[in-house]
Amino acid sequence: RRVLGSLGQSRAKFISAEERTGVTFEDFAGQEYIKRELQEIVRILKNDEEFQNKGIYCPKGVLLHGPPGTGKTLLAKAIAGEAGLPFFAANGTDFVEMFVGVAASRVKDLFANARSFAPSIIFIDEIDAIGSKRGGPDIGGGGAEREQGLLQILTEMDGFKVSTSQVLVIGATNRLDILDPALLRKGRFDKIIRVGLPSKDGRLAILKVHARNKFFRSEEDKEALLEEIAMLTEDFTGAELQNILNEAGILTARKDLDYIGREELLEALKRQKGTFETGQEDSTEIPEELKLRLAYREAAVAVLACYFPDPYRPFTETDIKSIRSQPNMRYAEFSGKVFLRKSDYISSIVRACAPRVIEEEMFGVDNMCWISAKATLEASRLAEFLILQTGMTAFGKAYYRNQNDLLPNLAAKLEALRDEYMRFSVEKCASVLREFYSAVETITDILLEKGEIKAEEIWDIYNRAPRIPQPTVNP
Ligand code: ADP
Repeated sequence: RRVLGSLGQSRAKFISAEERTGVTFEDFAGQEYIKRELQEIVRILKNDEEFQNKGIYCPKGVLLHGPPGTGKTLLAKAIAGEAGLPFFAANGTDFVEMFVGVAASRVKDLFANARSFAPSIIFIDEIDAIGSKRGGPDIGGGGAEREQGLLQILTEMDGFKVSTSQVLVIGATNRLDILDPALLRKGRFDKIIRVGLPSKDGRLAILKVHARNKFFRSEEDKEALLEEIAMLTEDFTGAELQNILNEAGILTARKDLDYIGREELLEALKRQKGTFETGQEDSTEIPEELKLRLAYREAAVAVLACYFPDPYRPFTETDIKSIRSQPNMRYAEFSGKVFLRKSDYISSIVRACAPRVIEEEMFGVDNMCWISAKATLEASRLAEFLILQTGMTAFGKAYYRNQNDLLPNLAAKLEALRDEYMRFSVEKCASVLREFYSAVETITDILLEKGEIKAEEIWDIYNRAPRIPQPTVNP
């Protein structure tokens, strides 16, 4: 028997492989109809031949969509576990986070690995990261990069014959709306299943699953307590319910008690609600200093978005209600046909620098924090894309799939040119922020006071702001 462990040494490090997941449908509670649908697929996978004789084939792809924490990964593992098949997992962001050109070859690796263990299951979480609609310029994540990865997935799924090497591909997303329609066509992800938030009965069932290894005073006590928690947890996901029980277990141990009681459960619920809300809508839990940093960040992003407006994708609003490592600024959908000029690419690099530059300006080089860390990555990636893939720079007219393809002298040239663009972008960004410093302050104040601000008001402030003249920044 081939051993999956050897994968650990392969270059396909981003793939996690399990020979047996050990997860079954017993582990997933609530939403029984989902299990019924998937059980059917498992039966087909198991008795491949029998079903084929009857002309019944397994779908090639199953797409699970719904909010995070509702058990999509768990279901994918359960399908593998129930069918006794090896499980290959990757995350959509793994394909695009890295260097230009890697996406397609990573997709190839993933499928090649899974196929050599067929029948097997491939799971791609956050498939929207690589499978979002094509056609937009989206230079943000390297549109061409993403597109190549997506095309590769389509090729792989079209390529394999169902009868010989069955590989079932399971995708998960919470953004069905932005997926490329090509992915959803027949012969690809043709089974689409919504995994929603659990109902009250569903929540009770989920709580029971996760209470299996916990101690309660008695069965009746447990029943009554879980019933009460299920009542109080509308809109909670399975992952959050699991957390409540874990947290209650920890509190119980800390108090040196033998059984989880009502007090511990309610305390755990309160804590979970706290984190639950900070991640979502409520800004009261965000520490003041972080709020200030978020407000400055969003204000800087807003001012840069006014200075270098994106003609195809206007910004709409922003807020400081959630903490993420990327700006909260929201944009309208792309509209019309898009013709990006070199200057548009450069503007987007300058815009991308805003979070980093404002933090340095306001808090000092030694006092920057992670909420602006992604900006540096984003801006460098854009610069690399411009240099390697558009033929619009002094680098030359050739197209380079991947910076790993570059010979050492070219790699050095790329670095020098990229640094050149980055230096200019950071300086230009700083100069814009200084020129519109009063607008930055006004927008920051409004964000701190109201928590959110709309495009209209941002434009108004920007247009009226007194400007502080700055020396010219040359490329
Ligand atoms: P998703 O992939 O949808 O983000 P996960 O499968 O990662 O969610 O869920 C995280 C954890 O939450 C699971 O491992 C499981 O312990 C718990 N969980 C979520 N939904 C359920 C459910 N319906 N039944 C049992 N446990 C669940």
